[in-house]
Parts: sequence; structure tokens; C-alpha cells
Amino acid sequence: MSYQAGRHFLQIPGPTNTPLPVLAAIAKPTIDHRGPEFGRLGREVLAGIKTIFKTENPVIIYPASGTGAWEAALCNTLSPGDQILMFETGWFSTLWSKMAKKLGLEAEVIPGDWRHGVDAGAIEARLAEDKDHRIKAVCIVHNETSTGVTSRVAAVRRAIDKAGHPALLLVDTISSLGSIDYRHDEWGVDVTVGGSQKGLMLPPGLSFNAISDKALAASRTAKLPRSFWDWEEMLEINAKGFFPYTPSTNLLQGLNVALGMLHEEGLDNVFARHDRAAEATRRCVRHWGFEIQCAEPAEYSSSLTAVRLPDGHSADNLRAEILARFNMSLGNGLGPLADKVFRIGHLGDFHDLMVTGVLTGVEMGLRVCGIPHNPGGVDVAMSYLAGNAGPGATPA
Ligand code: PLP
Repeated sequence: MSYQAGRHFLQIPGPTNTPLPVLAAIAKPTIDHRGPEFGRLGREVLAGIKTIFKTENPVIIYPASGTGAWEAALCNTLSPGDQILMFETGWFSTLWSKMAKKLGLEAEVIPGDWRHGVDAGAIEARLAEDKDHRIKAVCIVHNETSTGVTSRVAAVRRAIDKAGHPALLLVDTISSLGSIDYRHDEWGVDVTVGGSQKGLMLPPGLSFNAISDKALAASRTAKLPRSFWDWEEMLEINAKGFFPYTPSTNLLQGLNVALGMLHEEGLDNVFARHDRAAEATRRCVRHWGFEIQCAEPAEYSSSLTAVRLPDGHSADNLRAEILARFNMSLGNGLGPLADKVFRIGHLGDFHDLMVTGVLTGVEMGLRVCGIPHNPGGVDVAMSYLAGNAGPGATPA
């Protein structure tokens, strides 16, 4: 393909745009992963990442994509044949349940409609029936990236407690961590799974397990086979800032810078910036006359919006035209939503002007593809953003 002038707009819901200071840190010369400089870096990132998960407990960093951290969460805490309870929020919850079955777990999935988050009442009812506590873990996805629905994790915690059930709570925060408020300790989560390529603004390649004392205790008796993913040796060696095998030294250099940026902006400001972008996007989408895939306003995702196109119009064709003409990538519909939905990622390193740029690209695409819509959605987004200026604004 010939050179396309201007910057590519990477507006899929992760991987996200990597900011220049993070890229620069990754591009620094690779260092000795057993030397003193790495020890300092290791200690810094292992301490800094805890504040993002809002935990005082250890967080394990794997040189792997999020899928690896999913596997690590399961195989460190569970034994072959264990029953676990999952909730179908969309594509990613489904993939996680398939993985659990492949690992030899008995995964029971409460069906969902891909338009709502986890039904805490259904979890409570199922756990209340489980009088002999055969269910060992409840596994949920905080932010379902295929649908743009954010589940209420604290409500699920309360549901488990109300049922008086000892099951572990395992939560996937791959597309919410560093974008949407998340509290590992306060919400009593036992294992939180995260990834580097979304709110943390890094390329793909790192993933995380934040672990509670209860999860750590479970890992001492859990019998699923594990070696690379094993927490025990990792924690022992992490205590000195090192890793049992060669870590992703350069990505960790980038992570250290990204953590500094998130802390400098302040997590609450980061979340507010995401909330604002999401609200502007939804106002624009509604003005165009399209439905948002998430059917429950209290569960709207602040990191992405999945937009349903009217029947008879191809979301994949729209995305292809937008890529070819405007050099912007949007997320595709996954599984049953293929070609019906496109997803706008508004997470990671972006500001208001980028949000309006993205929406402009979509509105131009709608025109190009002849998809009937109310023009002027971007104007609605601009009015909202201008009236709800971010933290840098001068107070009125
Ligand atoms: N869980 C969620 C919510 C995701 O969005 C993704 C990827 O997008 C995954 C899990 C899988 O992570 P990875 O593709 O990094 O293995």
C-alpha cells in the first residue's frame, strides 16, 4: 500500500495508542535482567502497579497477552474437576469459559443477552442453591470489550457474601484497568486479571494477576498443573525485583513511564476523562439515530461504545471504508455481533480533540457508505465536551 500521510487513528478498544514517552522508554537499550538496574526497575513497577489495581497485595506481571493471565488465574487457584460459575456477558466471557473447560474445570455459565452486565441476583441465587459449596470460584468480566458493558463488581461481591458462600471471585479487567474505576481490595476480589495494551497505554505483551490472601492460600492446595504460570516462585523472586525467567525488560521500562503518567494525571482524572469521552460518543451516536449495544445506562462502558447499525447495513463495510479513506481503525463486531456492530475505542492516551476527530471520521464514513443518519452528531459531541471541560480548564 502507498504511504498515507497523517497519523493513523487506532480507535479499536485496545490495543490503544502508545504515547511517545512510553515508546521512547521501550526503545531504550535492553538491560541485563539480572543486573542492579533491572532490580530497581522491577521493584518500581511491581510497587507502582499495585496502585492501579488499588491493592496492597502482590501483583504478578507475566510476559504474555491477557489470555495467559486468564489461564494463570484459573490454574493457580483451582483443581481438576472443580466447579466454577461464570456469567455470559459477551465474547470474552465466553472465551474464558471455553478455556476453563479445556483446563478440565466444570464451568457453569449463566446465559446472558450480550446487552447487559452480570446479574448479581442470578449469581446469588445460584450460590444459595449450592449448599455443599461445590462451586469454587465465580469468574466475571468487568468490562466486556465485545459489547461495551461494564458490570458492577461490588454488587457481585455483595451477592457472594449474601449467599454466605466461600467461592473465590476472579475478575477480568483487561479493558477497564486504568480507564474505569476498579478496586481489587475494597471489592474483595481474589484474582484480578489485567493486560498492558488498553488503559495502561502499552503495546500488547504484559499481563497481570492481582491476588488476595485468600487466593494465595487457595494456590497452596490447587492442583491444576502449572509451571510457567506458577505464582509461588514468581512471588519469591519478585520480592527482590527480579523474575524467574527473562521478563519483557523493554515493556517494563515502558510500564514504569506509563505508571508515572497515570499517577501524574491522577487516576480519578483519568477515569473522568474516559467518562466524558464515552458520554460525548453516546450523545453523538444517539443523534445519528443508532442504538447503543449496552441496553442498561448504569452499565455503559467508559472505555468503548459498541454501536448497532440498522438492519441491511454492513458494519464491516463501514469500517473498511473508514480505514481506506480516513486511515482510522474501529473495532469489529465479535461472534453473533459480526457485521452488525462496530466498536469505538475511547480509552488510553487521548483527549477531547481526538474524540471529536474519531466521531468525525465515523460520520464521514456514514456519508460515504450512504447509511441513513441524522447529520451533526459530532456537533452534539462538541457542545457536550465544550460545556464539560476537563481538569485543565479554567474554572468559570
Ligand atoms: N478479556 C478481555 C475483556 C479482552 O478485551 C481481551 C482482549 O481484547 C482478552 C480478555 C484477551 O486478551 P489478549 O487478547 O491480550 O490475550
